[in-house]
Amino acid sequence: LTDQWELDPEELTFGRELGSGQFGLVLEGRWRDSKVAVKTIREECMSDEDFKEEARIMMRLSHCKLVQLYAVHTQRSPMCLVFEFMDNGCLSDYLRARKGHFSQDTMLSMCMDVSEGMAYLENCNFIHRDLAARNCLVSKNNEVKVSDFGMTRFVLDDQYTSSQCSKFPVRWSAPEVIKFSKFSSKSDIWSFGVLMWEVYNEGRLPYENHSNVEVVESLSKGLRLLKPRLAPEAIHRLMEWCWKEKPEDRPSFALLLRELPSL
Ligand code: ADP
Repeated sequence: LTDQWELDPEELTFGRELGSGQFGLVLEGRWRDSKVAVKTIREECMSDEDFKEEARIMMRLSHCKLVQLYAVHTQRSPMCLVFEFMDNGCLSDYLRARKGHFSQDTMLSMCMDVSEGMAYLENCNFIHRDLAARNCLVSKNNEVKVSDFGMTRFVLDDQYTSSQCSKFPVRWSAPEVIKFSKFSSKSDIWSFGVLMWEVYNEGRLPYENHSNVEVVESLSKGLRLLKPRLAPEAIHRLMEWCWKEKPEDRPSFALLLRELPSL
């Protein structure tokens, strides 16, 4: 990667630790006068040759409802990725921390934000593969943006990548993903339905009292998550549309985006 995207280390400074993720530590930083989040990548966690190729594509994805990847540093280990800084952290924590204080308008606009970002990815034929509230971030002015798109393809931990295994996000996965790893924008839509459920349940874990195995079993019997108490009927109908068994019976993000504002 020897082009405009490879960052000049002189332009990056590191600050406090923000958390730790799938691939390594996440630090606050400054890059060319912007506050940024820097993800450092532990070598054993990522198939980095594949990632270097993909980084170019990911940096070209640019939308106000996506957490922007600004630059990457691949020429030295650990590799690091420089992202737009999101002051209010991940959406799942944000929902749990402010429980009981969300208006209907706020919850709807969170869902709209995510579906705008996702409609852009869908239009670019880019599959997220791991959409969930934990993979969305909240900005200073409480706007929600989609993050971590496409990144699970580079995870080396088997526990995370196989649907049989403990860390696989079964609770957010469409049946065809669980059964045959068949990812598509229609499997992203399924995950989006679960994300809407998380928003209207203010950050509760989906199927919270059930194991992954039980979740798979109940899905195969046609059972679905129940209507959140705070969700209007029309929102619940959209969730159920996202959870149709056959991918082709589910809406696209483009269509969903047209339905949401009128609710
Ligand atoms: P991963 O998805 O690679 O496992 P995360 O994205 O969950 O890692 O990052 C871990 C933590 O770092 C998050 O919970 C969040 O608090 C923080 N973080 C990640 N990205 C950003 C960002 N762009 N701006 C601010 N904080 C961030």
